[in-house]
Amino acid sequence: MFETAMAGSLPKPAWLAETQKLWPQWKAQGDELRQAKADATLLWIKAQEDAGLDVVGDGEQARQHFVHGFLEQVDGIDFENKVTMGIRNNRYDAQVPQVVAALRLKGRVHAFEAQLARAHTQKKLKFTLPGPMTIVDTVADRFYGDRVKMAMAFAELLNQEALALQADGVDIIQFDEPAFNVYMKEAADWGVKALERAAQGLTCTTAVHICYGYGIKANVDWKNTLGEQWRQYEDVFPALARSSIQQVSLECYHSHVPPELMKLLEGKDVMVGVIDVASDEIETPEQIADTIGTALQFVPRHRLIPCTNCGLAPMSREVALAKLQALAAGAALARQRYGA
Ligand code: ZN
Repeated sequence: MFETAMAGSLPKPAWLAETQKLWPQWKAQGDELRQAKADATLLWIKAQEDAGLDVVGDGEQARQHFVHGFLEQVDGIDFENKVTMGIRNNRYDAQVPQVVAALRLKGRVHAFEAQLARAHTQKKLKFTLPGPMTIVDTVADRFYGDRVKMAMAFAELLNQEALALQADGVDIIQFDEPAFNVYMKEAADWGVKALERAAQGLTCTTAVHICYGYGIKANVDWKNTLGEQWRQYEDVFPALARSSIQQVSLECYHSHVPPELMKLLEGKDVMVGVIDVASDEIETPEQIADTIGTALQFVPRHRLIPCTNCGLAPMSREVALAKLQALAAGAALARQRYGA
């Protein structure tokens, strides 16, 4: 009961990349960089295990950014000539690569870190990939001229990599779709379909993470415009409930999401965000157990997975580690409180 997991990304050590940045520059190159990525991956596997998490991940230590890490291994994308584009409905500007030809994988994308992580932990291993709709929103299209067509093309590539990750021994494959909370109608219309295409044929556990973004200023400012009740999930959850995706990761603690919206996910495992990634304040076990208690009104206990609201990448290592420890301690307290 209450198996714990984190959303996906973790801070990169200062010897690997610039710290507290969303698109950090690497500190090394070539073989030295590869070794540093491997070291950081193992360090975080150990740290998650020591913190007491039940599901662990690679912390996305081997990719610069959760979307561009995938795109770097795709033919048809011009990474040399990035352009500035407003992303997430112009919430903030990003330097994005351009799609200039038909898309094709160059080869495996994440074999190195997935196989490394698998070889070094007995815990359940979760691996994250960007969702097709979020990719489409983080790249400039100079070729397809149609968001749906391009999303389906990306979904096929994601599916190839997801099937290979499953063969590597990954237990849970999670697609990250923050764009679902921005383009709710499109998400319900075709975003979920593209997601299912990306997950087609997988026999491991499948998951989707939908959040209000990292705790960076542009996101915090945006959240302040969303009003008293954040009801974005209301448009997307019914389509997800009808889909083949098994787990849904959502924001809860410190968000303005009405918790009763979790009821719309009947039949799904729900990764409930009990850790705020926009604040350095460490949650107490009591606060975490309280959030779990709130969620229990809407999610059956065997389907509730305490998790972080989003990735921890832009935070400091110390804060991120303390939050993982708090997560495990809070879940343990909740087991005492709400256990049968
Ligand atoms: Zn997120």
